Amino acid sequence: HPKKSLGQHFLVDDRILERIVAAADLSGREAVLEIGPGLGALTLRLAQAAWRVLAVEKDRALQPVLSEVLRDFGNVQVCWGDVLEVDLPRICEDAFGSRTVRVVANLPYYVTTPVMMKLLEAGPVIDRMVLMVQREVADRLTAQPGTKTYGALTVAVQWFAEKIESVARVPASCFWPRPEVDSVVVRLDLRPRPDPEMSRRLSRVVRAGFGQRRKTLLNALSHALAGRDRASIAQALRDAGVAPDRRAETLSLEEFMRLAQALADGVYPK
Ligand code: SAM
Repeated sequence: HPKKSLGQHFLVDDRILERIVAAADLSGREAVLEIGPGLGALTLRLAQAAWRVLAVEKDRALQPVLSEVLRDFGNVQVCWGDVLEVDLPRICEDAFGSRTVRVVANLPYYVTTPVMMKLLEAGPVIDRMVLMVQREVADRLTAQPGTKTYGALTVAVQWFAEKIESVARVPASCFWPRPEVDSVVVRLDLRPRPDPEMSRRLSRVVRAGFGQRRKTLLNALSHALAGRDRASIAQALRDAGVAPDRRAETLSLEEFMRLAQALADGVYPK
């Protein structure tokens, strides 16, 4: 029996499975990381099209079915664990060496945002992600500042991805059991070498800002950036040209970047 608490909605539509694999654009040489293989419907197709597949699955009860489905494939490895807890760069290195990774997943929706944030901020080196997400999350990826869906995930994706596409709209009838929401397959092509220092700074200020969404930036940052006094934060906001009474949800990526830079310049002498 599928476990609702684990977001188990299995894909039962061949056409959608094929669209996902096509969007991943596999040539037989790719190292693929799958999150939540479930009963293996997608895993099986990935194994046919890629070099190797590493699949992270939390539900150990699926082991007998999954090993039966995958019995003919020597290029699939399953890591039993919670994707939010495993050391992704480490398990990918164990499975793939230093290869760049392609992520393909029909995500468990109760953890979509933290999983995407983890892949972007603390994942292995990834060139592309093809993900099934609920439509509301797909909307968030391309949201404009000042709108309700604009958030930390939007800013992270705009920083890490050079291209965001929606590949297919997927009605609930393609899953068993049916989810209560509509879904979309999205494809994110990631930038080859985002500056790691800027990624860290940006992540810190974005989290701090959105951690207290309704507060002004000055208050949210003063609260969240322990070790920084209010005056130096006010100065960084001035340097970045961002009014201290604005809220995180109104800042563009460029403004967040200027702010992250100004906060860093405040720590190290110019
Ligand atoms: N890939 C399969 C498919 O498309 O039919 C299953 C997708 S289902 C939406 C999500 C899968 O993620 C389930 O197999 C579930 O057990 C697994 N899962 C849920 N939470 C997880 C977690 N925290 N870490 C790893 N896997 C998880």
